[in-house]
Amino acid sequence: MQFIDLETQQKRIKPALEKRIRTVLDHGKYIMGPEVAELEKTLAAYTNVNYGIGCASGTDALLMALMAYQVGPGDAVFTTPFTFIATAEVLQLLGATPVFVDIDPGTFNIDPVLLEKAIIDFDKNQRDKHPISDKPDSALTPKGIIAVDLFGQPADYSAINTIAKQHDLFVIEDAAQSFGAEYNGKKSCSLANIACTSFFPAKPLGGYGDGGMCFTDDDRLADVMRSIRNHGQGSDKYDNIRIGINGRLDTLQAAILLTKFDIFPDEIQLRNEVSNRYSSMLKDMNALATPIIKKNCRSVWAQYSLIAQTTEQRDIFQKALKDNNIPTAIYYPKPLHLQTAFHTLGYQKGDFPISEQCAEAIFSLPMHPYLSESTQWEISSILKHVKL
Ligand SMILES: *Cc1c(COP(=O)(O)O)cnc(C)c1O
Repeated sequence: MQFIDLETQQKRIKPALEKRIRTVLDHGKYIMGPEVAELEKTLAAYTNVNYGIGCASGTDALLMALMAYQVGPGDAVFTTPFTFIATAEVLQLLGATPVFVDIDPGTFNIDPVLLEKAIIDFDKNQRDKHPISDKPDSALTPKGIIAVDLFGQPADYSAINTIAKQHDLFVIEDAAQSFGAEYNGKKSCSLANIACTSFFPAKPLGGYGDGGMCFTDDDRLADVMRSIRNHGQGSDKYDNIRIGINGRLDTLQAAILLTKFDIFPDEIQLRNEVSNRYSSMLKDMNALATPIIKKNCRSVWAQYSLIAQTTEQRDIFQKALKDNNIPTAIYYPKPLHLQTAFHTLGYQKGDFPISEQCAEAIFSLPMHPYLSESTQWEISSILKHVKL
């Protein structure tokens, strides 16, 4: 059994996929070909955002968004420690400082109450109240917030955007896991100043390689990100008006994504059916907490994650499934503030207890649109028969 089954999906769209790929091979415009613009237009319309800017990965999307805001040394950006490394990696890469804020234990997304408290402590220069570097740098200026829509459920943007406005901060939506999700009836990728998604193969809308996209309603930011994506290009190829990157989306990936997008709304429906089945099958198990989706949200279920009562019990559940050839995964075993890569920030164990507790007890079950009910019965039956 596979954790994410991409083969069944491929069988479903194979002729269309081959036709789209053949078209690219025929026109030969492998870089910035017409499929890139078509994908940008299609996904911008779907998310109801003015501009989509295709790029080489979700990580580049985040990098381009931060570069568009000219984030650099001396800037502080608030974000969650319970996410994939890329969310905060790009901050360090630009010389900026990630300031972590703990999460809501139900949704695993940044907690707006703790976010506001962290920003106020920062403003009052009471940095001792918020766990930040051992050597507080008084020159640090708060610039923005990166909220993450973990496992496919949007963070609480009405609270986050209100706080951001009060403190003059930008908001970036890390929507790498949530393309297609909804919040208050609005699509993920339309919920902040800039949104960044990923088309890594395992994401809800995944290509056959790396890819990503930035979304914004802002004309100026869109222009700047388009320029950054292509070596800081100005009016023509050899006019460079800023330092940029080679962050372009391949035409072939855009063609593949256009084909996959045709069945994507149906797949979101299937993902929700799969997750609902898991939750009803597992609801009587006291030893496992099933995911909580807020009433105003629709998730795209990048992961279906359970919380065990202890690390030992989590390991027992995982082993029972493994013994039956059922793969599981842990997202994320180590919160970012405890990663060696961020050791210079001076955080310690205990700084973000909710993220740490989740990391110690979480695990994810196989999740994809084509998971059968019988397989789910098998998985839930194994979990129910585990002797703790
Ligand atoms: C996958 C992911 C990224 C990075 O996307 P890539 O396309 O792999 O570069 C960033 N943030 C989150 C939350 C992710 O899950």
